[in-house]
Amino acid sequence: MARKAKRIVIDSKLCKGCHICISICPHGVLKISDEVDNRGFFLPEVDDIDACRVCRLCEMECPDFAISVVSE
Ligand code: SF4
Ligand code: SF4
Repeated sequence: MARKAKRIVIDSKLCKGCHICISICPHGVLKISDEVDNRGFFLPEVDDIDACRVCRLCEMECPDFAISVVSE
């Protein structure tokens, strides 16, 4: 059975809204938030957690170690 993510944690202090994680995700799990944060960044947010296959590409490619996937 395919692995599933329980949740995806984005550290709003470390993330600088580069959106690499959104671009690299092969399953369209993440999207850009509609809301700007207090630093002027549009952070990523989870759009479809059920689509995540826990490949961890987002974790590996994030330059700021700001995203982590918690699996079942
Ligand atoms: S672990 Fe893989 S499928 Fe899940 S959000 Fe990250 S890049 Fe997308
Ligand atoms: S790759 Fe990392 S720093 Fe860039 S938007 Fe995603 S979580 Fe934030």
